[in-house]
Amino acid sequence: MAKNSSPNLKNIKMIAVLYTIGLCVVSFVIYGTLFTRTYTPITTKDDPAAESDPNPAASSNASAADDDSITYKTYKDQHEIVATVLLDAGHGGIDGGNVTNDVLEKDLNLSITNKVAQYLKELNPNIDIKLTRSTDETPWFESEEADLNYRQEQQTTQNADYFFSIHCNALPEDTTVEGMVFFVNPTDTVMKDLANKIGDNLTSIGWTQNYSIIDNQLYQLVTLSDIHSTLVELGFMTNAFDFQKLTDPNEQDKAAKAIAAAISDYIMENPDAPEYVKPSEQNSSVSHAPQASIDSYAAQHAQQSQQQAADPNASQNPETAQDPNVQPAQ
Ligand SMILES: [Zn+2]
Repeated sequence: MAKNSSPNLKNIKMIAVLYTIGLCVVSFVIYGTLFTRTYTPITTKDDPAAESDPNPAASSNASAADDDSITYKTYKDQHEIVATVLLDAGHGGIDGGNVTNDVLEKDLNLSITNKVAQYLKELNPNIDIKLTRSTDETPWFESEEADLNYRQEQQTTQNADYFFSIHCNALPEDTTVEGMVFFVNPTDTVMKDLANKIGDNLTSIGWTQNYSIIDNQLYQLVTLSDIHSTLVELGFMTNAFDFQKLTDPNEQDKAAKAIAAAISDYIMENPDAPEYVKPSEQNSSVSHAPQASIDSYAAQHAQQSQQQAADPNASQNPETAQDPNVQPAQ
C-alpha cells in the first residue's frame, strides 16, 4: 500500500502544479487583455500603408499617397467620438464652378473631398465624418442662396465641430498665380492654426509653393458659422503647375491624405480647443457672396499677395515660401 500510494501522491502533486501554472497563464492572458483594452494610450505608427492592411483597396489607395515628408499617425479606436467634421465639396449638380480645359471645379472638389473623408476615416476612427454631398447630386439646389443656406444648415443639423468647404480657384487673366487660399473668421484662432497646419502639410509635399489666410468676414458659410469653419481654395485651375496637381488622381490622393492628417492630428493634439464663439455683430454685416464671387475674390487676393511677395520691400509672411517660378503679375 505504501509503495502504491507514493506514485499516486506524485501524480496528485504534479496535477496540482500543472493546475496552478494553468491558472497563472489564464489569469495573465485575461489581465493582459483587460489591460490592453482599458489602458493602452493613443499610439502612433508610421504610414498605415506600410502595414499589412486587411482591406486591399484601402491599402492600395494609401500607397498612392505615400510621402516621406509627413509622418502619418494612425489613432486607436477610443470608442468615443472626439469631434465631428463636416466636409463640403464646393458646387455640384448644375453649378459646375470654375471651368478650365473642360474640367469642372465641382468634379475636382468632389473627388478630393471624398478622398479626404476616406483618409480621415483610415487615420482616425475617433472622428465622426459628415459630408454635404458625396456625389454630383444636389437635390436642394434651387438657387445659389438656397444652396448656401442648405450647406450652412448642415453645420447645425449634423452637429459638426469643424467645417471645411473645399474649392479650386481660377484666374484666367493671370495664369502665373498659384497656391492655396483659406478663408477663416478673424477671431477663430483655432481654425487659423488648423489652416496653417493644412497649408504646411501640403507645402511640405510640394503640392503648392505658398498659401495665404484671409480673415475678413466675406463668405456666408464661414462668416455665419457657429463652428470652426474654413473655405479653402486648394489651387488655381488656370495655373499649369496647380492644374496638374489638382487633376492627377495620385496627387489628389497625396493632398487628401496630407489634409486628413492635419485635421486628425490637430483634433487629437487639441482636445480642449475652445469652441468658436461667433461675434454677435457679424449677424448684421454678413455678405451673402455667391460661391463664384468668393472664388474670384480669392483669386484676386492671391494675385495681390504674390505681387507683394515678389516685391522685396513688401512685408513677408515667414510661413509663406515664395515660389521662384511665380513672376510679378502685370
Ligand atoms: Zn468654388
